Amino acid sequence: MPDTATNSISSLAEELVKVVGKKYVLSTPASLALYECDAETMDVARPDLVVLPGTTDEVQKVVQLANKYCVPFTARGAATGLSGGATTVYGGISLVLTRMNRVLHIDPKDMIAVVETGVTNLAVSYAAAPFGLYFAPDPSSQSASTIGGNLAENSGGPHTLKYGMTIHHVLGAKVVLPDGNVTVFGGRAKDKLSLDLLGLLVGSEGTLGVATEATVRLLPRSRYVETMLAYFPSVATGGQAVSDIVAHGVVPAAMEMIDSLTLNAVEDYLHMGLNRAAGCLLVVELDGPKESIHVQRQIVETVARENGSISLNWAKDDKERAQIWKARKTSFGALGRIAPHGYVLDGVIPRSKLKEAIENIARIGDKHNLMIANVYHAGDGNLHPCLLYHRENEDEVRRVMLAGREILELCVELGGTLSGEHGIGIEKVSEMPMAFSAVELESMHWVKNAFDPRCICNPGKIIPQLKSCGESGMRPLLRHKLLSGC
Ligand SMILES: Cc1cc2nc3c(=O)[nH]c(=O)nc-3n(C[C@H](O)[C@H](O)[C@H](O)COP(=O)(O)OP(=O)(O)OC[C@H]3O[C@@H](n4cnc5c(N)ncnc54)[C@H](O)[C@@H]3O)c2cc1C
Repeated sequence: MPDTATNSISSLAEELVKVVGKKYVLSTPASLALYECDAETMDVARPDLVVLPGTTDEVQKVVQLANKYCVPFTARGAATGLSGGATTVYGGISLVLTRMNRVLHIDPKDMIAVVETGVTNLAVSYAAAPFGLYFAPDPSSQSASTIGGNLAENSGGPHTLKYGMTIHHVLGAKVVLPDGNVTVFGGRAKDKLSLDLLGLLVGSEGTLGVATEATVRLLPRSRYVETMLAYFPSVATGGQAVSDIVAHGVVPAAMEMIDSLTLNAVEDYLHMGLNRAAGCLLVVELDGPKESIHVQRQIVETVARENGSISLNWAKDDKERAQIWKARKTSFGALGRIAPHGYVLDGVIPRSKLKEAIENIARIGDKHNLMIANVYHAGDGNLHPCLLYHRENEDEVRRVMLAGREILELCVELGGTLSGEHGIGIEKVSEMPMAFSAVELESMHWVKNAFDPRCICNPGKIIPQLKSCGESGMRPLLRHKLLSGC
């Protein structure tokens, strides 16, 4: 790992100014502080420089200069990441893509869009809307998060259950490789004949290169959509309904659940008349042909009632549907009313183990004396326990980290894994050996090494420390201080 301290950051800055212009190279402590973390705020590490290129050519030159000075660089979109992926744990350059935010081309016949990767997810759907098309992956952060971030994290969302993750909707990407070469992985059409380099890139969290353009698939909007909001006495009964709906052969577009703590926080915030006494709130959305929705709706209602639903109702129109989704999508924000900070986990379990997982997460919360709110992509078995805390209370932060680790252990023990969509980043890198064998981790090292032998492209993420990288140069992180000896 290059030691940035010994490199001449100021000469690098001068050369970067020649590439992107003075306005787009930031180096004052105040401006660097704005880029010291993403939405996972426990891991904080300030970059040495922030650079905002405007074209692929500029990104390439920035990466070439990073190579010349042997300085790490880390791509950054909107920094809504929840695993510290865009945090510059080795310092160096924070390479911010948000100026590259154009939708370059929409082809309604081939149903594709070509976009710069700094564009937001929702802007792509807005641009496609006049053609009756949209971009299906819908992370709750979609109004802010970028296509580059979605691609790097292989993001999903409530509708992943039926429509899949980002990987299922990306056809090609223009990439600046860690050595500064520019190439294109994939293209405009499905290509399964060669080694799947695009598949490697998607989900690699910016560790294999910087994507500057993407060609994404667009889908036609479903003409018929039905959205149900149901209350259950407990998360266990709601969870059982979720399993039973799928067991009855219904694959809803989305099945999302929030627990009573979250529900009450949302109601405090939105005042929309949610049932505060319920143990959980379940949202089920069906889409497709009218006749099939009709049948599915009956099955969903029957299953909900058989599992003791307190009440259920279907949105009468788009306005009511939007209200239901607002309740779900503002969940994490609303939790800010209970505690100023929330550490959101992202473990996955087999859907049938939901009850067991919930009970054990509550036990872990009690053990560490922590308040844990739960939001679930229930259909996928993707859990988002949110551990509420106060950052100035170091002991509480340490307990949050320990509890987080135990919850991830639990997910793996139940047959699941560490992350459904938020990625590993810096946050879960130490937990990787829980879920992957030494051989699997070694294979990941080979891939990383093949793309980035100098280890300067978003170092420190996903894969536990490469031997060739060494430890030197890593910024001191709170998690290392608090967990040393645990
Ligand atoms: C309130 C909230 C709700 C969320 N809901 C969801 C959800 O429902 N589903 C979900 O999957 N995620 C969710 N997230 C997490 C986050 O929004 C996603 O991971 C998102 O894709 C990150 O996009 P970004 O532009 O913010 O990327 P950043 O956070 O800036 O970066 C994320 C990672 O991508 C890399 N990267 C960014 N741009 C590029 C690029 N052009 N080329 C290569 N690498 C790049 C970075 O290096 C980093 O490793 C949520 C986050 C928040 C705060």
